[in-house]
Amino acid sequence: MKQLFTSLFTLLIIGNTFAQKEIPKDYFDNPIKIPLILSGSFGELRSNHFHSGMDIKTKQVEGVPIHAPADGYVSRIKVGHFGFGKALYLKHPNGYSTVYAHMQRYEGNIQEMVKNAQYKKEKYEIELFPEPADIPVKKGDIIGYTGNSGSSGGPHLHFEIRDAASRPMNPMLFGIEIPDTKKPIINSVFAYPMGDNAQVNGNSKPYKVRLHKQKDGSYKAENIEAFGKIGFGISTYDQQNGASNKNGVYQISTAHNGQEKFNVLFEKFSFSETRYINRFIDYKYFKKNRSRVQKLFRESNNPLSIIKNEEQNGFITISDTFESIFTIEVCDYRDNKVLITIPIKGVAQKELESKADNNNLEYIVSSGNTSMSHGKFDIFFPAESLYEDMYLDISARGDTLSFHKDIVPIHKNITISADISNYKTADRSKLYLGRLNYKGVPYYSNTKLEGNVLKTRVRTFGDYVIASDTTNPKIRPVNFSDGKWISNNKTLQLKITDYESGISSYRATLNGKFILTEYEYKKNVLTYDFDDNIITDSENNLKLIVTDNVGNSTIFEATFFRKQS
Ligand SMILES: [Zn+2]
Repeated sequence: MKQLFTSLFTLLIIGNTFAQKEIPKDYFDNPIKIPLILSGSFGELRSNHFHSGMDIKTKQVEGVPIHAPADGYVSRIKVGHFGFGKALYLKHPNGYSTVYAHMQRYEGNIQEMVKNAQYKKEKYEIELFPEPADIPVKKGDIIGYTGNSGSSGGPHLHFEIRDAASRPMNPMLFGIEIPDTKKPIINSVFAYPMGDNAQVNGNSKPYKVRLHKQKDGSYKAENIEAFGKIGFGISTYDQQNGASNKNGVYQISTAHNGQEKFNVLFEKFSFSETRYINRFIDYKYFKKNRSRVQKLFRESNNPLSIIKNEEQNGFITISDTFESIFTIEVCDYRDNKVLITIPIKGVAQKELESKADNNNLEYIVSSGNTSMSHGKFDIFFPAESLYEDMYLDISARGDTLSFHKDIVPIHKNITISADISNYKTADRSKLYLGRLNYKGVPYYSNTKLEGNVLKTRVRTFGDYVIASDTTNPKIRPVNFSDGKWISNNKTLQLKITDYESGISSYRATLNGKFILTEYEYKKNVLTYDFDDNIITDSENNLKLIVTDNVGNSTIFEATFFRKQS
């Protein structure tokens, strides 16, 4: 009986492994018909997230046709000012979905559905979930055009493949071919002494290991002396052929005296785990040096599923006089590899000086909720807002809250409340909470006014202030002026800006009727397209209202004339 169970179990495991390996290699065509060159790869390390798709270059222009890579139907359409901008989701009969982001516009009946919804809701930002029968697509159909909408730093197509559970997967697993003959590039390697008595070269701080490149492209590190529990970290990137962009690698594995210790693989993850990147990288080092060191060990509160294998959570324990070899292997999807060898000698080292004085600091236990008050400010930390227990430097002076430094990551929103009862009632509605940027200028943090209290939720440490915005937004026409004929214009464009709390909403009408204006926040420009055919008169009255985040409004009115055909 026991044997039967064992073999059933083995069969199940084999079955499971087989199912996971069964990724179709030729089901999805390339979505655009130009050679694929990537400006970003799957799993690449980004701010607060792992990159969920591949970024395909579009020769620095917008408007490249996007073709459905397989049969399916449009399952979701989302238009937003930020993030993915104009995005489209296709569902395919094999259970996978594909995603297209930062588009310039949609094609044909999709575009029509979007415009109808925007005019019906009188909003640019919309989200639609069409039924399977609404917009079916055939492999090769044009579904839209590439662009630069949303939070995109230049024209490109963000392309994703997601599994049936909406987990993004590495598109290269599906045979989307990217030529790559270049090895990953190694920036730096660090040794991390962990725990009380651990040391590397006589110090308890992270130690940058000196690397010597060998003729065959591998690296040999200097000998290090270590004691206690040690982990390693690496800053590395990959380049594919045809571009110099710094993309992510595919796999990093480590071994101690030949025994595998840790393996991280960029094939698939869940959106619910993506913010744990701040636990995975050396956040403090990143904030100071703008370089992301991936920690090749798992600490508490790190559920990342990209970690495929680990022994002792990736740590090694070095005892006195013990000599050993630690290796790190970095690999790209085309199996170009770089090996780093680090010889370690165990040396019981001198007593370290006692720890810093934590007298004026706040101690936060991450597993529970914590509330505290400093001057006008109340702060609430929900459980697990921090990854580990720690001391934080928090103090208040007048309208400023010094809220530690942005060298520690925050996982869950922390609430900051500020008492503003010392302000005159009339002035209170213009107040907001902002985080001071490096120039000392407050950056609006989404603020609610509840009675005499301003409230905001934050995920970044730093200095927060009670700020006031009494200036109205500014509106300036770009391609027309009041009282003029503009029969040849294809669009109306207006520049809208707000220097303090920032723009919250806008609404434009022509002759009293709502018109759709697209807001491109990167250029501060609102655009109306005359092809929307809202007006039929020669004389037209435009009215635009722009409101900032504390409710200051500006109204702009102008008259223009157009020949009607
Ligand atoms: Zn992208």
